[in-house]
Amino acid sequence: MKGLKEILKHSSNYLTGIAAAPGLTIGKAYVFTKEVLEINHNEITDVDEAIVLFNEALEKSQKELRKIFSFAKEKMGEVRAAIFEAHLMILDDPVLIGNISDRIKKEKRFPEFIVDDEISKYQQLMFGASEHYMKERALDIEDIKNRIIRNLQKKRWQSKIPLEAIVVSGNLTPADTILFTKSAAIGYVTDHGGLTSHAAIIARSLNLPAVVGTHHASEKINDGDLLIIDGFHGMIFINPDENQIKYFTQKIQHLFEINLELQGLKDKPAETFDGRKINLLANVDVSGEVDLVVAKGAKGIGLFRTEQIIEEIGEFPDEEEQVKIYSTLADTIYPENITIRAFDIGGDKVRQFDLQEANPFLGLRGVRLLLENEHLFKIQIRAVLRASVHKNVNFMIPMVSTLQEIKRTKILVDECKAELHKEKIPYDNHMKLGIMIEVPSAAVMSRDYAAEVDFLSIGTNDLIQYLMAVDRGNDYVSDLYQEFHPSVIRTLAHIVSEGKKSNATVSICGEMAADTLAVPLLVGLGLDSLSVSPSAVPSVKRTIRALNYEKAKLLAEECLSLSTEEQIIKTIEKFFKDNLIQRTRNIL
Ligand code: PEP
Ligand code: MG
Repeated sequence: MKGLKEILKHSSNYLTGIAAAPGLTIGKAYVFTKEVLEINHNEITDVDEAIVLFNEALEKSQKELRKIFSFAKEKMGEVRAAIFEAHLMILDDPVLIGNISDRIKKEKRFPEFIVDDEISKYQQLMFGASEHYMKERALDIEDIKNRIIRNLQKKRWQSKIPLEAIVVSGNLTPADTILFTKSAAIGYVTDHGGLTSHAAIIARSLNLPAVVGTHHASEKINDGDLLIIDGFHGMIFINPDENQIKYFTQKIQHLFEINLELQGLKDKPAETFDGRKINLLANVDVSGEVDLVVAKGAKGIGLFRTEQIIEEIGEFPDEEEQVKIYSTLADTIYPENITIRAFDIGGDKVRQFDLQEANPFLGLRGVRLLLENEHLFKIQIRAVLRASVHKNVNFMIPMVSTLQEIKRTKILVDECKAELHKEKIPYDNHMKLGIMIEVPSAAVMSRDYAAEVDFLSIGTNDLIQYLMAVDRGNDYVSDLYQEFHPSVIRTLAHIVSEGKKSNATVSICGEMAADTLAVPLLVGLGLDSLSVSPSAVPSVKRTIRALNYEKAKLLAEECLSLSTEEQIIKTIEKFFKDNLIQRTRNIL
């Protein structure tokens, strides 16, 4: 069978975008064009009637959203569906509603004009924010605004599509995305939006392939066109030819067989066939994913990104809230362990503090910010300690660059323990403390730093960005973001061997660990543990179980002698061909 590269060489009928939700699908396009609502700017004579109409439209919108919320809960679970709860809260916001009502009374204009103007003001503020996340949320609010206006104009809303179609649109609101699944949408393509857009998040939780950020898909694709979506590579083929259909149909069949095989691996150990055991764990971003961790057969949680809590609730959780979240996770995953990472705020993540930094990635981020705000850090340490009573909690520090930061953190942990002891609140006195190795200075100093803690966890997402000096989210330099660059591989080898000299366990929790191609190399380098997103657990386990550890060690040795990324990738691909037939990276 021809490879994707070969297919692309002879094709021009495809578009590319961001691979937002993995999977492959073939189906007819349904191009969804939103009706542009005409806003009546005129003055009104009957203010009381306008207020009644506004309240009715508001009520109808709330009713619609409540229905969507309960449908979403059914479809994707409570945690993911919380997006719609947040929308309902906006519709309930007394300040917003009060402002709109006051302006209708004062300005005597059509309510739809005031609604449009008032909510657009909020949106403008959000669009102007520096964080990508806020910009995405501004798009969500568009849905709320249009919903009220549509109800004021007493228009019906279109949410039905032909059965089993691929929805193509400029933008998709969360409500569009979820409601289209009622008519069995089988995939999504949008002109705008990124990985964090809700259309992408919802598509991932519904297991539907999606390609977003294509710029022109809704112009280039016509209603009824046959499409192939490749959500692994971010590609859409329009009216594919016979060769393309044949290639992707075989791929879909292959994927189906692999998924069946992967399901069977759930209770099997992540062990090479010559007996090297790897601790295969899962990364958790939102607490609801813990069920997925268990379902996918991981042996615990290797990284819980606590900053996501702030992202979800929009503020710092207090100690009690944190204890509740951490204890629930620890109890659910018991007897396996959970590694809770301290808030990694700063860089491109949650920006609670109004810092004006020219280079946020090199600024007050992770442990640096926490040590500048010790009261917040101590609240978190106390909460983690309190959740550790069943002795299955580890605590991990992000963005460590100096020994001083580790020592200072240890002093704070000791202070918190002493406080809890005095307050007669139980905790695990032997809770393991570890650090993320994601800054080159920490990588170089691994042996010394490992002597201070129980474990090291390599964050390759950041380590690569700092080692190669490439912003991990910048398209212009994405070619330089090379996870198989020899400097990355040699640094990983250094961290593992130096960390072990100080008797620390060494694991990896960056995205690299989920790359099938990287797995033999990481195992061969001697990593004790890999932590990957829950959905990647089965395929990583499958690769580990097909490996011979002795051969993987030789592969690592060979890769350490090479001097370009290309050579390393070729060497690993050859290793797959010679030793792990059919397990090349493009399987998944
Ligand atoms: C990493 O940097 O590899 C990592 C796991 O942390 P994050 O992606 O949250 O920065
Ligand atoms: Mg990181």
